[in-house]
Amino acid sequence: MTIDATQPYDDTNIFAKILRGEIPNKTVYEDEYALAFHDIAPQAPVHILVIPKGAYVSWDDFSARASEAEIAGFVRAVGHIAREQGLVEPGYRLLANVGDHGGQEVPHLHVHLFGGQPLGPMLAR
Ligand code: 5GP
Repeated sequence: MTIDATQPYDDTNIFAKILRGEIPNKTVYEDEYALAFHDIAPQAPVHILVIPKGAYVSWDDFSARASEAEIAGFVRAVGHIAREQGLVEPGYRLLANVGDHGGQEVPHLHVHLFGGQPLGPMLAR
């Protein structure tokens, strides 16, 4: 089921539970601003989710409400993870689904990092 990206933050969502340590995850990186872990149902050889530590529903919510430090910390973490995973030279894809038309399923901002093979066209046809 997709979500309404303008809804208030629901702290029972699965990524909130992962952040609280209530559900296990395969962590690849963590700092003050971000947590990155392997997607449970990978759609590429490398499929990592990066989430901010703060309670933000979506990219829309984060870009409107997050502090400069949170935004800088999160963006820098995404870049760091891509470099650390060796994705930069072969290339990778960064994707954030927002709301119903974006196909967002989990109402805590996450960006998908895909890599490890040529990724094909940007959108399914
Ligand atoms: P969305 O469609 O919201 O952009 O992506 C949600 C992603 O979260 C999906 O790729 C899905 O496989 C992943 N996911 C859902 N539940 C879990 C979980 O409990 N653990 C992990 N690691 N990934 C999850």
